[in-house]
Amino acid sequence: MLQNVFEQKNTLSFEIFPPKKDGEFESAFRVLDSLGNLKPDFISVTYGAGGSRSGKTIEIASYIQNKLKINAMAHITCVGSKKEDILRVSAALREHNVNYVLALRGDRPREMSDEQFDSRDFAHASDMMRFLKENTQLHMAGACYPEKHFEAFSMESDLNHLLKKQEAGAEFLVSQLFFDNDYYYSFLEKADKKGITIPISAGIMPITTANQLGTTVSLSGSSVPKALADLIARYGDSREDMRKAGIDYAIRQIRDLQENGVKHIHIYTMNKPKMAGEIVSAIYR
Ligand code: FAD
Repeated sequence: MLQNVFEQKNTLSFEIFPPKKDGEFESAFRVLDSLGNLKPDFISVTYGAGGSRSGKTIEIASYIQNKLKINAMAHITCVGSKKEDILRVSAALREHNVNYVLALRGDRPREMSDEQFDSRDFAHASDMMRFLKENTQLHMAGACYPEKHFEAFSMESDLNHLLKKQEAGAEFLVSQLFFDNDYYYSFLEKADKKGITIPISAGIMPITTANQLGTTVSLSGSSVPKALADLIARYGDSREDMRKAGIDYAIRQIRDLQENGVKHIHIYTMNKPKMAGEIVSAIYR
């Protein structure tokens, strides 16, 4: 049980995404084999917000759980989904022995019709969580946002909504990526005051190319501290130097978190096992 693992030790986990094309599964499995060698406590697998590619998430999660014998956590989103859709995916996960989901609302994809969006059964992740708790045996985690979710009116209201995830049965939380640890420390303090007692895993994404930073920031809304901006300005034009500097930044970020008592680290691996391996050997040697 992951819940026990969180209670007993510091955890390390990875996020990966399923291959975009059917022909790419073999190479995805090789990526997973390498990540598996790093012995993470769990690996989470992303999910397309519309749900049409859910089979790929299930196949990858199944490989992690059944072939690698590592706890797999499948992401699942409810934007545009009916209860039947969520039950179908939940049943398929259970059939594959995958018992953990990161239950998310998701964002409406551009191609989703008004009809599908308007007929959704769940407005928020916590609504789906309550439904999953009542109707399935799945264990659940939820997402949290150290710098506030972009739609939330205030951090206070976002935390009120986060508390609903805990009340709905979330066993732990995984944070949005952040580059400035001070936001995370401040968030942990506020979450604690709000009564959030479940473990929280800190989301770290190493930035290894200058282009990646722009895309990441526009998707996550995370702030870029001066130290990271300076690093991009200095090394952004050199592929190898940028890669090394980005990995070093992530290592320093994780070390600082650990020195400040953060026990749970979740690395957004971007399906790059070599990069993950370099971080893990620097941190855990
Ligand atoms: P919610 O918890 O529903 O929150 C969304 C907004 O609604 C917030 O502003 C919140 O404050 C507000 N809110 C919540 N409950 C209520 C309520 N009861 N009343 C009023 N307002 C409320 N997306 C994908 O498509 N696929 C993925 O695999 C994926 N993986 C992710 C993994 C992590 C770790 C994170 C942090 C995000 C991930 N996302 C993924 C992105 C996520 O789907 C988006 O951030 C989305 O905008 C919010 O999802 P949520 O589950 O946090 O939503």
